Amino acid sequence: MTHRLYYTAPDLLDFEGKVVDVVPPSGEEKRPAIVLDQTAFYPTSGGQVFDTGWISSNGGGEKYRVIEVAEREDGTILHFVEDGALPSQGTSLRGSIDAQRRRDHMQQHTGQHVISAAFERLFEMRTVSFHMGDETCTIGLETKAVSDEQAARAATLANEIIFEDRPVHIHFVTPAEARGMGVRKIPPVDREKLRLIDVRDFDLCACGGTHVHRTGQIGCILLRKREKVRQGVRVEFVCGRRALLIAGRDYAALTEAATVFSSHVWDVPQQVRKVLDEARAARKSSENLQEEIAELLAARMLSEAPLQGNVKVISQVFADRDLTFIKLLAQKLTRAGENAVALLGAASGAPALVFAQTPGAPFDMGVLMKEAVSAAGGRGGGTRDLAQGGAASTDRLQPTITAIAERVRSQILNGSART
Ligand SMILES: [Zn+2]
Repeated sequence: MTHRLYYTAPDLLDFEGKVVDVVPPSGEEKRPAIVLDQTAFYPTSGGQVFDTGWISSNGGGEKYRVIEVAEREDGTILHFVEDGALPSQGTSLRGSIDAQRRRDHMQQHTGQHVISAAFERLFEMRTVSFHMGDETCTIGLETKAVSDEQAARAATLANEIIFEDRPVHIHFVTPAEARGMGVRKIPPVDREKLRLIDVRDFDLCACGGTHVHRTGQIGCILLRKREKVRQGVRVEFVCGRRALLIAGRDYAALTEAATVFSSHVWDVPQQVRKVLDEARAARKSSENLQEEIAELLAARMLSEAPLQGNVKVISQVFADRDLTFIKLLAQKLTRAGENAVALLGAASGAPALVFAQTPGAPFDMGVLMKEAVSAAGGRGGGTRDLAQGGAASTDRLQPTITAIAERVRSQILNGSART
């Protein structure tokens, strides 16, 4: 079992240790690992992620980059290093930990204790999970919902505790002692001694992670999004330097949006709402106009089309209209009270074909469309009364429609519409 220097000295970033084992790569684990008799490197556990840094010989001649740290079930801590020459057992080595990464972890982790305690004290919402990600952290709260007001109150209280710069102490006690002390979270595993993290007069929690000495070092806590999850509500937060970075990024994004609207950043939501309302109104007005144009155009086309038998066959390709418009037009043409067949093409957007007939007319648009798309190099189909399809290119539309119109006219002449 590796002696954990960070248990009692969370600030220790440089230390000496003796190599007790070197684990070669095996199976899925492609990297070798160095085991020391003692270490200040923190292994991933309890929601906090591992430290990185260097292990090197005293003269600095040999250097091993520590890329991950993990603990085995027997309490051994593995320092994973890049593959290459490795130290021999018994060698004394110096470990040095990436200070900025560790400080960040200490800020996030202690901040987590404070925000979890705030939710529990104010609303009896117990923290059931903690995750530290590369950008943000989350806690899982055992509750059905967290309102905006509750989140704001918890954040205010947590930040008050930070501004008061309360001391954070470490105590080692027996589980029995811990139970008498009102500890927020006691792990279920049987241990002789528990390590308690004590945020003075605010929170007492059993934890093996690294924490700051005073709450002021957390800097601040920023609560972000909340999500309903199966076990409760997941609350995202960031502390210290991360809060600064993420607030800066938010401000840059808002400023960019505000520049687009030529407004103040605080007016961006109102501006977005206004633009969306305007866009919605413009779309509605455009739809109404399209409807009117289709109606007028259909009336004119029907009045100009000759009657063949008792049917009017109308075929046309529109260079500047899209599928939506020709569908609308086909509908108007075939529901105006006359027997009509509409064979329409649209070249604006993806080249499209729409065939329609007055319901009950004797042709089969689905069959005609299959014929048309096989000639035009597209795909499509439909029912007896309405079919739609595509063409490989716009210049295939006109010849295809001309050929299909010929087919329909000859079917009328032969009286063989249903074959
Ligand atoms: Zn902790």
